[in-house]
Amino acid sequence: MTPESALQELRARMGAVNLRVLEALLEYYQVARMIGQEKDRLHLPHFDPRREAEMLSEILEANAASPARLPDDMLARIFKEIFKNSTEFMGVQQRKTLRVHRSSGAGDHVIELPHGRIGRSGGAEAAIIAGPCSVESREQLLKTATPLREAGVRFLRGGAFKPRSSPYSFQGLEEEGLILLREVADELGMDVITEVLSVKDVDLVARYADVLQVGTRNMANFSLLKVLGSLHKPILLKRGMCATMEETILAAEYIASGGNADILLCERGIRTFETWTRNTLDLAAVALFKQETTLPVVVDVSHALGRKDLVAPMAFAALAAGADAVMFECHCHPAAALSDADQQLDMEQALTLVRHIRDCDACIPSSMK
Ligand code: PEP
Ligand code: MN
Repeated sequence: MTPESALQELRARMGAVNLRVLEALLEYYQVARMIGQEKDRLHLPHFDPRREAEMLSEILEANAASPARLPDDMLARIFKEIFKNSTEFMGVQQRKTLRVHRSSGAGDHVIELPHGRIGRSGGAEAAIIAGPCSVESREQLLKTATPLREAGVRFLRGGAFKPRSSPYSFQGLEEEGLILLREVADELGMDVITEVLSVKDVDLVARYADVLQVGTRNMANFSLLKVLGSLHKPILLKRGMCATMEETILAAEYIASGGNADILLCERGIRTFETWTRNTLDLAAVALFKQETTLPVVVDVSHALGRKDLVAPMAFAALAAGADAVMFECHCHPAAALSDADQQLDMEQALTLVRHIRDCDACIPSSMK
C-alpha cells in the first residue's frame, strides 16, 4: 500500500468515526434536553457541579481500564466542554418555552394605552416617554408636561414613590404625587407611567397610573413581579443594574406567567467599571431583547448616562438598535430638582431632543423597526 492510499484509508476511517461521534452527540443532547425538561419541572438548576464531577470520574475510570488510554487532563477538558455546552443547550431550550420568547409564535407585542401605543409592529413611530424624575408639585409637573404635550409627547413619566440610595433624600410625594400625575395627564391628554416600589402599594399606584414601572432595584423582587402578573395594567420592567439579559427575560416571564402579557422591557444601563457615565448603556441588550422576545423595548437614556450631553446620540443609537421607545427625564427648573438634578434636561433641551428623536426615527428603515 502506498503512503497516499494508507492516508486515504485512514481518512475514510476518521470520516466514519466522525459520524459515530455525531450519532453519540445527537443522543447526548436528546437526553440533555429531556433532563433539562425534568429539571425545569422540579425547579432544579441546570448546572449541577456535583453530578458533573461524578460523571467525569466514571469517564476517567473507564479511560484507565482502556488499552487505548488517553491522558486524563485531555479527556477532562473535552468532557468539560461537552458538559458546559449541554448546560447552555438546556438554557436555550428552556428559553424557547417562555411565554415572552419569540418562538412562542406570537408576533411583536404592542401596548395599547388610552392616548397611544408603544410598540413598532411593522414600522410605527418610536414612542417618547418623558417627564421629571420626581413629581414635586402641581406647578412643576404642569410646567414640564405642557410643553412636552404640545410637542406631541403622549406618555408622561414621574416618580411619586422614589427609590433613593439615602433614606434622608427626597422619597417622593406618594399618593399626593399620584393624584397630581393623574390630574395633569388628564388635563393634557397623556398617559401616566410611574414606579411602584412595593407590593403593598400596587393597588394604590394602579388606581392612578396607566403603566406601572418596576425600577432597576426591584427587578428581582419576585413577590412584586408575581402580584403585577395578575394586574390588568401594563408594566414597564427595568433591567436590574447588575442583571444579565437572561435574568431580565425571566423577570418578565414572572409577570407574563401570572397572565399579564402587557410588558415593556426597559434597558437603563448596567453597572460597570466605567465612571464617566452613570451606568453603561447596553445596546446589544436592546437588539437581543428584540431578537429573543416579542416585547416592546424602551431605552431610558437619562439613567443609563446620568449626563445630558450624550442623550441625543445615544437615543439615536437606541433607535438604530431596535428600541420601540425612548424615555428621558426633564424638568422645568432642573437646578432646583429634588432628585437627579444633574441629568434632567431643561424644557428647551427636552424639546430639542424630541425633535432629534423624531428625525432619527425617520432615518431608521422600516425593515429594521
Ligand atoms: C426612575 O426611572 O425614576 C428610576 C428610579 O430609574 P431606575 O430604576 O432605572 O434607577
Ligand atoms: Mn431619576
